[in-house]
Amino acid sequence: MDLEITDLDTERAEKFLLSDLRKCALLLDIDGTILDLAPAPQEVWVPTELRNTLSRLEDLTGGALALVSGRSLHDIDLIFSPVLKRKLAALTELGPGILVEDKDYSLALHYRLAPDKGEVLRATIQEICASAPRGSIEILPGKLVFEIKMTGINKASAVRELMTYPPFKGRTPIFVGDDTTDEPVFPMLSQFGGLGFSVGRVVPDVNGHFENPKSVRGWLARIANQRQSTQNQGAAP
Ligand SMILES: [Mg+2]
Repeated sequence: MDLEITDLDTERAEKFLLSDLRKCALLLDIDGTILDLAPAPQEVWVPTELRNTLSRLEDLTGGALALVSGRSLHDIDLIFSPVLKRKLAALTELGPGILVEDKDYSLALHYRLAPDKGEVLRATIQEICASAPRGSIEILPGKLVFEIKMTGINKASAVRELMTYPPFKGRTPIFVGDDTTDEPVFPMLSQFGGLGFSVGRVVPDVNGHFENPKSVRGWLARIANQRQSTQNQGAAP
């Protein structure tokens, strides 16, 4: 498909984001979008500047920043240490005898040394996992163990689901992705009045595209920095 390549819409999105970040939700794919592709997923390198940018943007959007990735929870944790897994691992503090086992694609909480903790453990796991998009995490009860794993879900359904939760609900999604698995997300963004951008290539239903992850990082940093300097000047609410 021969689509015209234009930066106009990334500028439009930038202006829109800058006008009020608290009306937007930033949804970003990880590999090939904000990070350069590496020979092995574990070898990716996260520039310090990107960590800072993401944390500033998370602040500026009031938490409406999501990394929408095909990676396993384990992989994402290796890179970004999300709160969810930390919270689950912290359940060992419910009492002695609860052990955490970090498997490659799941997290197991064993309570065979504390069988009386089973019910409280189950309830707390459910409570923690309730903050993840519905259908994205499976809790598998085993023999004196609970295994928590990511389910293979489609990104479009994940994004649609995510947009029903605060602080994403009612916001304008701005999605950036490079994979074929990101493609189903683009056409559904218009339902939310959102904008979608591809990376490296132009695909149908996008509003614009970035040349490579470096240009995405530069764009995100520009938004974070400009917004911050505007705030520092006290010119914006
Ligand atoms: Mg990708």
